[in-house]
Amino acid sequence: LVVLDGDGGSVTVDPSAETLTRAEERLAAQKAQRDARKAARDEPAQTRDGHAVKLLCNAASAAEVVAGLAAGAEGVGLYRTELAFLEAQAWPSEEEHLAALDPALAPLVGRIATVRSVDFGGDKTPPFLRGTELRGVALQLRSPEALAAQMRAIVRAGRHAELRIKLPLVETREQLLAVRSVLAAALAAIGGHGAVELGASVETRAGVDRIDEIVAAADFLSIGTNDLTHDVLGADRVDGGVVAALAADPRVLGAIGRIVAAAHSQGRTVEVCGEAAGEPAVVPLLIGLGVDELSVAPSRVDEVRQIVRSTSFAEARGTADALLGR
Ligand code: PEP
Ligand code: MG
Repeated sequence: LVVLDGDGGSVTVDPSAETLTRAEERLAAQKAQRDARKAARDEPAQTRDGHAVKLLCNAASAAEVVAGLAAGAEGVGLYRTELAFLEAQAWPSEEEHLAALDPALAPLVGRIATVRSVDFGGDKTPPFLRGTELRGVALQLRSPEALAAQMRAIVRAGRHAELRIKLPLVETREQLLAVRSVLAAALAAIGGHGAVELGASVETRAGVDRIDEIVAAADFLSIGTNDLTHDVLGADRVDGGVVAALAADPRVLGAIGRIVAAAHSQGRTVEVCGEAAGEPAVVPLLIGLGVDELSVAPSRVDEVRQIVRSTSFAEARGTADALLGR
């Protein structure tokens, strides 16, 4: 008999009767808590003082999209398109993208579908790109044909959804302008689609440094706190939980606060989609900083809704301001 505590990271082989009883009691308590959160799925994601936060889910498959919607997410805030192609031998074709995306976006009729263009590079480098030092949108812009193929596939797969496209690791306005013209050509080629928003995912200090020009060229802003925390603090992003909690560091919160201020001053919304968006200690701080949308793993939607609903926006804003010394 083994007691495995996934939260605490411990394994007890041949547990004593007392250890076993404690584990069983914790299991029962957790199940009761999960059931209570599930029962609140129809409640709006808004703070005690009435401040609404859009609750979305992260996904990389049709099953995750369905699970997120079942948990009450309003839509998808981050669809990671690169995960289907980590073993690819060449840039995926339009039809390959479409085959991966069509079933995943099908459940999102009339709902927000935020599709991120492929974020290759770094720890997500397929065999054909080995040796590259570039990442994200900078890497994709090196292969304009492949970029155009993905834009056409996203527009085709997202035709029934409230489609938003976001670009990973944006650091300059020129990157947005370059992709915007490729997207315009894709829309002209496909036709029959309303407006598609183009957003920037800011995930590095270089992006934060140029935030005003990026905001001016973007329809919405997104913050990848996994990479941002790694870049600001030098923290290892391999352990998602650790990186998520580290986002509470004032240096990371300060960067998020700058992005939110720049975005709001130009009337753009801000979404956070890194693990920190589902980290209980960090969620109230993000709300206090004015983040408009939280996108989290389907398994965290219920818990984040509960945290939002038990938070006071006024108090959270005071806490965030105090942490940032403002
Ligand atoms: C992030 O960096 O927080 C993010 C959402 O992107 P990914 O984890 O896919 O790099
Ligand atoms: Mg990232």
